[in-house]
Amino acid sequence: MAVATEQYLEKTDEQKAMTEMVRKFADEQIIPNAEHYDHEDEFPEPIVQQMKELGLFGVTIPEEYGGLGLDLTTYAMIVEELSRGWISISGIVNTHFIGSYLLMKFGTDDQKHKYLPAMAEGKIRAAFSLSEPELGSDVQAIKTSAVKGDDGTYEINGQKMWVTNGLRSGVVFTLVKTDRDADPPYKGMTCFIAEKEPGVAENTGEYAGFTVPPKIKKMGYKGVESTELVFDGYHCPAENILGGEEAGLGQGFVQMMDALEVGRVNVAARGVGIAQRALELALRYSQERKTFGKEIAQHQAIQFKLADMATKVDAARLLTLRAARMKDAGERSDLEAGMAKLFASEAGKEVVEDSFRIHGGYGYSKEYEVERLYRDDPLLLIGEGTSEIQRMVIGRKLLQRHKI
Ligand SMILES: Cc1cc2nc3c(=O)[nH]c(=O)nc-3n(C[C@H](O)[C@H](O)[C@H](O)COP(=O)(O)OP(=O)(O)OC[C@H]3O[C@@H](n4cnc5c(N)ncnc54)[C@H](O)[C@@H]3O)c2cc1C
Repeated sequence: MAVATEQYLEKTDEQKAMTEMVRKFADEQIIPNAEHYDHEDEFPEPIVQQMKELGLFGVTIPEEYGGLGLDLTTYAMIVEELSRGWISISGIVNTHFIGSYLLMKFGTDDQKHKYLPAMAEGKIRAAFSLSEPELGSDVQAIKTSAVKGDDGTYEINGQKMWVTNGLRSGVVFTLVKTDRDADPPYKGMTCFIAEKEPGVAENTGEYAGFTVPPKIKKMGYKGVESTELVFDGYHCPAENILGGEEAGLGQGFVQMMDALEVGRVNVAARGVGIAQRALELALRYSQERKTFGKEIAQHQAIQFKLADMATKVDAARLLTLRAARMKDAGERSDLEAGMAKLFASEAGKEVVEDSFRIHGGYGYSKEYEVERLYRDDPLLLIGEGTSEIQRMVIGRKLLQRHKI
């Protein structure tokens, strides 16, 4: 179902072509198969293979490295379409996109040449890792550490938590402490491009000391794995410090926070996508189901719900596109990205819940797609900064911009 106001969303011809292509892909390949992969909690390998062929792992990677070289706005439009299909699919691309962004913005020329061409093709996929068992929001409290040895490599020790694509990724952008005494603590944090064997739990040889425990069992967001990572004497060459040892040491926190800003636009687009799908399902079901002699869509209470849902979807989409367009224009968009993430993830939850209610008892049945949406959606309230953290960011930025 096309969005009614599409012609006013000012898509370029390229953006129209891309979103139409991805919507068709979602309708034909993702939506009909999501139930199976969700139920089995199985990685959707055939879908990922097709995504590689469509170039979806290189959307924002420059053409000189084999990517499509598209901007954040087009990427956000693509993510909306993928998430409309199944947010686990967008999750497979999401951490990869953040890894590509980190490399494009902060990587040395050698790092870009080494990783970006293979990443554009999806041959190597990227994950990123900040969270630990004892922390998520409070990133400066990270305990995993790296110490330089006599051989010039950095030995990493510690445990990470909730790493999306933790098993199948080939590179993990990992934030660790390199100076425990730094004051403020964020100045003692460094991002390492930690390489490993994709799909291997117990790494050996040059990657020895990097273990991926079994995936975490989750209420939703299945198919894509979320794992812990254990670093136990893992040696990372100094050249794998993002941006190089000289420029990158102690810069990890700033680099990661920059990446999370575009990550928030990405999560906002995921909220729009899942809400759009929930709205479509509700519009269809409410015209099929009859109670008291008429379609439930003809009861005013249901129409009001549909009205609120559609309004929230459109508002979330507009906020998301504004944040993306500002970033693409080189304008500061931290505040706007926070607003988009906060609003779209909360709107997503509300719209999915309303769609669930409209489905009555059938919404509780696994026969109906909305049941999966209801389990998948809450992740968006948590990942890349909870709603409380978004409000903190928005509040702080507001006061900075309007200081009297
Ligand atoms: C499925 C899934 C995938 C994930 N993927 C990744 C990934 O790929 N990489 C990665 O690094 N992380 C990942 N995460 C982790 C995610 O980023 C964290 O869960 C999130 O940042 C919240 O951290 P926490 O769970 O430790 O909660 P906490 O930080 O412990 O927060 C608990 C509660 O307290 C609130 N709170 C915390 N501090 C404040 C404050 N100052 N004021 C008010 N309220 C506060 C929070 O909003 C929350 O409600 C993933 C999480 C999930 C569930």
